[in-house]
Amino acid sequence: MERPAFACDAMLGSLARWLRFAGFDTLYAPHVDDWQLAARAHAEGRWLLTRDRVLAARTGPRVVCLTAATLEGQVAELRRRLGLEVRQEEFCTRCSHCNGLLRPASQEEVRGLVPPFVATHASHFARCTLCGRVYWPGTHFPRILRRLEQLFLAD
Ligand SMILES: [Zn+2]
Repeated sequence: MERPAFACDAMLGSLARWLRFAGFDTLYAPHVDDWQLAARAHAEGRWLLTRDRVLAARTGPRVVCLTAATLEGQVAELRRRLGLEVRQEEFCTRCSHCNGLLRPASQEEVRGLVPPFVATHASHFARCTLCGRVYWPGTHFPRILRRLEQLFLAD
């Protein structure tokens, strides 16, 4: 099955961030009008995710109208509705800020872009191919992985 891509409406910023962490191509543009977003989602073959029933009813067919207010509830609904196939090896392969794909970066490349301690001690780095942001497995990393497992892999 083709891996689904998403477009989250302005109210679903947290869901968008976690879908990106999980490796899903997720459009999130809170400054864009909902109807424009819906049109773009349609043009790009993305699933529109929204809690707005009016918007959901007037767009589609690739639309999931979520009812849950919490991130946990929204992911659970999405998994039920689409039977999301989540791949652990794709966790943390996208920039949570801009949706760009990450690529490995060398210590030399990121020197000057990250705090000196990090440049010396982190074991490896990744850099966003779109916005240039640098990622490294810091202290928050195990927490993010645990949360991803809870959200996307637990029954
Ligand atoms: Zn980025």
